[in-house]
Amino acid sequence: MTDTPTQLFIGGAWVDAADGATMPVDDPATGEALCHVADAGMKDAKLAEEAAVQAQEAWARTAPRVRSEILRRAYEIILERTDELAHLMTAEMGKPLAEARGEVAYAAEFFRWFSEEAVRIDGGLTTLPDGRNRMLLSRRPVGPCLLITPWNFPLAMGTRKIGPAVAAGCTMVLKPAPQTPLSSLALAAILKEAGLPDGVLNVVTTSRAGEVCEPLLRGGRIRKLSFTGSTAVGQLLLAQSAEAVVRTSMELGGNAPFVVFEDADLDKAVDGAMVAKMRNMGEACTAANRFFVHRSVAQEFGRRLAERMGALVVGPGTRDGVDVGPLIDRRGRAKVEELVADAVERGAQVLVGGRTPEGPGCFYPPTVLADVDPGSRLMDTEIFGPVAAILTFDDEDEVIRRANDTPWGLVGYVFTEGLDRALRVSERLEVGMVGLNTGLVSNPAAPFGGVKQSGLGREGGRVGIDEFLEYQYLAVPVS
Ligand code: NAD
Repeated sequence: MTDTPTQLFIGGAWVDAADGATMPVDDPATGEALCHVADAGMKDAKLAEEAAVQAQEAWARTAPRVRSEILRRAYEIILERTDELAHLMTAEMGKPLAEARGEVAYAAEFFRWFSEEAVRIDGGLTTLPDGRNRMLLSRRPVGPCLLITPWNFPLAMGTRKIGPAVAAGCTMVLKPAPQTPLSSLALAAILKEAGLPDGVLNVVTTSRAGEVCEPLLRGGRIRKLSFTGSTAVGQLLLAQSAEAVVRTSMELGGNAPFVVFEDADLDKAVDGAMVAKMRNMGEACTAANRFFVHRSVAQEFGRRLAERMGALVVGPGTRDGVDVGPLIDRRGRAKVEELVADAVERGAQVLVGGRTPEGPGCFYPPTVLADVDPGSRLMDTEIFGPVAAILTFDDEDEVIRRANDTPWGLVGYVFTEGLDRALRVSERLEVGMVGLNTGLVSNPAAPFGGVKQSGLGREGGRVGIDEFLEYQYLAVPVS
């Protein structure tokens, strides 16, 4: 903690906020402040934007190999510092150390992946249908970007945006979530060490997100917004981006259905449910939110899931043997408590958990609810906590209709041993990603993203870099 930067990173320098403001970073396991970081205001954001704008032209002209090697070096440094970064993440966000180490590896992988993509940006020379004109096609960086990230994956949500932006030749202003600024500041220090030129990445930590971001989006100098966060904030930012016609990528909320058919392998389904529900304590956009289980296997599935959930150890993420850390803050926990209370009032059975423990920190126990009424609030709200809500269904058409009956469409999970059914159901689910007999879809080599109100665009995979590139077409007549 002692070496972790706590100032803003602007133009390659560490600076205080212009008005000297700072904000606390709290440890969710104790509720106490770990440290204070600079709390940027409008003036600082403008300085960061200016640094990104000034750096853009020269950065766009760097050799792809140079950009590639900076990312590769940063990838190596991140892996070398896995333990340090994992401790930092656990301190500010709460996830158990083993999960934090997993996130460090996942985050680093985006830099390796995009170091490999940086040198594969292509264009082409085409003869047009008239046989005379030629088309020269090239790809160019979209320009200075505003990157806004959430608190739930403090490192990986940063690298998933910074990686392709660096590879494409874009400069950036990164605004991390106020709960978890330290991981982003540590990342900036690593990129500087890896050779990223001054001004290419600027980091503004702030508790005043609206005040800081809106003028940048409306100002016309930022050309791209890449946002990961809630749908409500995404909608607001889309409206703000309209004025200057800023290009946007939106990774928003989810309400994932987890469907278990009568022919599913229940061991696989329960293993998958543990991952889809409990990765990151349920604080993931990909978290299974609604478990639809065929009536004939619902009781057995609920029993096995409750047994596994009940065996998990809850405690501070730094303690050995802990499986489930605290939720991010009291507000996040209060939301989970309210959703469970509402479901129980409507007749849900609590198979395990459901009671907030006494004492400091934002802990909530792994909870399984059965016989959940479809009118319960947690059916159309991201739970963002360790609560599995089980409903039953009788046939395939019915479950597809109910799974799709939501404004979101990020991910769905399907458990069946029949290939025919697996493909048929997946194709009919209105989602950007499907886990077939698995509870994990995230992979840097795959295009991550949703449909409907879960977002616009994709991150990662071969297409991830496209979000940061424009086409330029040159018309060339040849006589
Ligand atoms: P949030 O929307 O509250 O905040 C996300 C970011 O937006 C933070 O940096 C926050 O400071 C910033 N922000 C808030 N108000 C703003 C404003 N007016 N102007 C500019 N920026 C503003 O979300 P959160 O609670 O940090 O994260 C949880 C949400 O993120 C969940 O809905 C989750 O599903 C979603 N998420 C989605 C993905 C994905 O890839 N689809 C990944 C992780 C998290």
